[in-house]
Amino acid sequence: MTENTTPKAIIIGSGPAGYTAAIYLGRANIPHILFEGDQPGGQLTITTEVENFPAFPEGVEGPELMMKMKAQAERFGTQFHSETVISVDFSGDVHKVNTSKAAYEAPVVIIATGSTARWLGLDNEANFMGKGLSACATCDGFFFREQEIAVVGGGDTALEEATYLTNFASKVTLIHRRDEFRGSKIMQQRAIDHPKIDIAWNSVIDSYVGDDLGNLKGLMLKDTQSGELRELPVTGCFIAIGHTPNTQFLDGVLKSDENGYLITQPNVTAMEIAGVYACGDVQDHVYRQAITSAGTGCMAAIEAERYIGEKGL
Ligand code: NDP
Repeated sequence: MTENTTPKAIIIGSGPAGYTAAIYLGRANIPHILFEGDQPGGQLTITTEVENFPAFPEGVEGPELMMKMKAQAERFGTQFHSETVISVDFSGDVHKVNTSKAAYEAPVVIIATGSTARWLGLDNEANFMGKGLSACATCDGFFFREQEIAVVGGGDTALEEATYLTNFASKVTLIHRRDEFRGSKIMQQRAIDHPKIDIAWNSVIDSYVGDDLGNLKGLMLKDTQSGELRELPVTGCFIAIGHTPNTQFLDGVLKSDENGYLITQPNVTAMEIAGVYACGDVQDHVYRQAITSAGTGCMAAIEAERYIGEKGL
């Protein structure tokens, strides 16, 4: 595809879902452009090693995996734009997508903007990412075998991650800012009863403590009732205080659930507006894996290809 070809499809987002959709559209000879946004490669570019993506028996660094996916899409003609979409207009037959630089049009739009893990927002937080601090137990739990670690949060994600992490860690301290959990009763009980899980009620992290190499070696905890500070020695800390799906630019024009995740039609990636598809973490708060994102990206491209064929676009 040359730079001047009018796109038939616009992909918004450059994680596994967006790149996979691009590979499939490219191989179907459908001219398309892909907006990479603020963080090309998506969430995987802030993780270290990915050990659960098939075909990499020795594991692969997150950024390398994303570069490979991008190169594969490039090979089949994807036009990449390093722009962030700020608004859309899905009111006509041809959908409009606006960035801060220009307006674009295509009959098909695939939304693959992912979700962003919420962080605590502490001063030196960014310095510890990948150095003991993580927001994904499935991705990084394996690196903390026989170590003492912590999980922050009181919802289902925190309870589930704390329980899951006991498969690796010698001890998991679950840090919650209140004296009761928000998560489901059964998951609460599982965590409370677990011999490897300690619970720090009414506690928040006041600061991260690093060693000479900049790796996490502890957390300064603050009791929310007494204000008392104490250090908890841990080499790993998982922040599980929720994710925010990246849908702000849609301004509520598509159906979403109470947490903002897009709701696709049952068993497909099509949204309620013809020619609009959603794939990856922006519509999945259950699995949130690179492989499932890639899978739904593939679905979106195949559905889009059929739509373009049926409509003779
Ligand atoms: P939730 O919003 O349910 O919970 C977030 C938790 O983080 C709350 O306990 C909240 O505390 C705490 N929190 C939020 N901000 C801060 C902060 N700044 N400092 C300290 N703590 C903070 O998010 P989840 O990701 O847990 O769940 C999202 C949705 O996904 C839910 O509907 C959940 O049920 C669902 N889910 C279901 C699962 C399953 O069924 N297997 C697994 C995982 C998620 P507080 O309680 O005080 O507000």
